[in-house]
Amino acid sequence: MNHKKKHFVIAIDGPAGAGKSTVAMLVARKLGFLYVDTGAMYRALTLKALKSNIELNNKESLIEMARNTRIEIIQNENGCGILLDGEDVVKQIRTEQVSANSHFVASIPEIREILWSIQRSFRDSYDIVMEGRDIGTVVFPDAELKIYLDASPEERAKRRYLQILSQGIEANIQKIKAELLLRDERDSRRKIAPLVKHPEATVIDTTSLTIDEVVSLVLDLYKKKLAELEN
Ligand code: C5P
Repeated sequence: MNHKKKHFVIAIDGPAGAGKSTVAMLVARKLGFLYVDTGAMYRALTLKALKSNIELNNKESLIEMARNTRIEIIQNENGCGILLDGEDVVKQIRTEQVSANSHFVASIPEIREILWSIQRSFRDSYDIVMEGRDIGTVVFPDAELKIYLDASPEERAKRRYLQILSQGIEANIQKIKAELLLRDERDSRRKIAPLVKHPEATVIDTTSLTIDEVVSLVLDLYKKKLAELEN
């Protein structure tokens, strides 16, 4: 008989800039769950490919590279950190170059399989808040709670713009919006694990909500679900 405790999974999906990372990190912190940013994994592999001058159209080379890469998730003061072959790359994976090129590795089934297996393994040991594009649909279709965070493209572009400005870097909001829309389109149209809302997911439109309001909504949904499961 299997006496292993079943761990609780909160799956958060949605387009870039909807607030997934901040919300997932705060919810995880509040509940004492592990926070896993799956985008960081696709970004880390993209960073390695760029640094190693691997041709991004060359699937076989990318798959070979992924098979020979160690990706580890660590928890740091800002939430979820990532080690790429032992090196902390949390800052390096946030560049525009990495954002714009992550779709290459993300569209390769063999690479997704490798990352899915790492992602699923966390549930053996932890209650988790995991965010990405395919968490409720593919990684954990049986997640206890599924959330789809959305926001208008204008609001998402504005948030990204302010975030870049706050780092003292100049930015162009129209260009940011165009890049976000292109990324949404690629993430929603790819054949494998596209960004789609799971029919059971609760949609939260964060356009006119504060982070705290979104976090409270998610915590309320969690409490409701927990009560349901306990009955
Ligand atoms: O979430 P973030 O913007 O950091 O993700 C970077 C890219 O990684 C996404 O645009 C997407 O192409 C890919 N990704 C994915 N599946 C996930 C998370 C991210 O395909 N679960």
